[in-house]
Amino acid sequence: MLEFAHLTKLYPDGTRAVDDFSLTVDKGEFVTLIGPSGCGKSTTLRMINRLVEPTSGTILLDGKDYRTQNAVQLRRRLGYVVQQIGLMPHFTIAENISFVLRLNGVKPKRRRDRAAELLQLARMDPDLYLDKFPRELSGGQQQRIGVLRALAHDPDIILMDEPFGALDPITREQLQDELKNLQRRVQKTILFVTHDMDEALRLADRIVIMREGQIVQAETPEEILRHPADDFVASFIGQQRMLRQAGEVSVRDIMSENAATISSEQGLAQALEFMRRRKVDTLMVETPDKKFMGIARLRDIQQAFEANHTVRIGTLAVFADAAVSVDDPALRAIHQMMSFKLDAIPVLDASGHVASVVTRGSLVGVLAGALGIEGETGPAPAKHA
Ligand code: ADP
Repeated sequence: MLEFAHLTKLYPDGTRAVDDFSLTVDKGEFVTLIGPSGCGKSTTLRMINRLVEPTSGTILLDGKDYRTQNAVQLRRRLGYVVQQIGLMPHFTIAENISFVLRLNGVKPKRRRDRAAELLQLARMDPDLYLDKFPRELSGGQQQRIGVLRALAHDPDIILMDEPFGALDPITREQLQDELKNLQRRVQKTILFVTHDMDEALRLADRIVIMREGQIVQAETPEEILRHPADDFVASFIGQQRMLRQAGEVSVRDIMSENAATISSEQGLAQALEFMRRRKVDTLMVETPDKKFMGIARLRDIQQAFEANHTVRIGTLAVFADAAVSVDDPALRAIHQMMSFKLDAIPVLDASGHVASVVTRGSLVGVLAGALGIEGETGPAPAKHA
């Protein structure tokens, strides 16, 4: 257990970087520190690993005052990951991961075994990576190694200072999910600094929101979203609140049952008649063995029909990549509709069959729900646009 009691840091120039910070972090808890730039997040972390000495207040580790403990021994109980992880370029991945073990006098064989074990933990094949050099890895992979390196000596507490800040959004989300999984398995206490609310919401058991060196609110993500302590927190969460709720909704929640599907073998007149009956302007075209092959749009079908083309509907199927699957987040469906400029997109089941559709109408229902608009809540039963 890690306990901060009235921790305060005044820099020599008079900056009150951390101001009466009190917090108890349980063993195995994932805590994110978040707040605007300059609010004292990094200074707090640096006081934990003793890069910065507090002006007043105490830190207790398992009930014992931090200052009474030997700084070297203390650091052995800590792992540290920063944005610029700085892997050593002339060391292999195995050597980089186990570097702290080497400092601690652990024998080479044991160090390599430990590196392999950690790679496996991150689902990276040891045979593939142990002997590679950092430059052979992508940015995301290097950052994974940075996280593994911090775990090598089996510390109790891991300090992370914007570790994924330099990565592209997709890699970043991937690493966030991996870290969360990893933490569930290794049960380390993690203090994670970020200025990205989405990241905090994704990772934290508890979010500590700071402003001007002080804690404004320290609660679970759910509690912070539901009951922000004040206007500062509310505006800090801002839009992310809505996005978060939309992010929890999956395609399954917003799809409407009645996909208008047609076999690729059908003729254009049949297709037009079917669309008239179903009152839809897009058809989800499937191969004869019921695999989605693309979307056929009313205007394309009409044009081809009027030009007397005797083609089958399958030849007019476009946008095979627009489909989403049942378990995708609803946000992906929105993204697909925007980028393909479609009013309805197909939802595929595990076998590639069109299970349903998402339409603009069904999305309006979700947004209304996320925004807490009363009345017609929940997805409207929509036809294809
Ligand atoms: P954050 O990590 O939230 O961006 P920091 O802990 O880095 O915030 O900084 C908190 C405040 O302390 C800021 O006003 C910053 O300018 C100031 N500060 C940080 N380090 C020093 C230092 N070494 N000397 C003087 N002021 C500092």
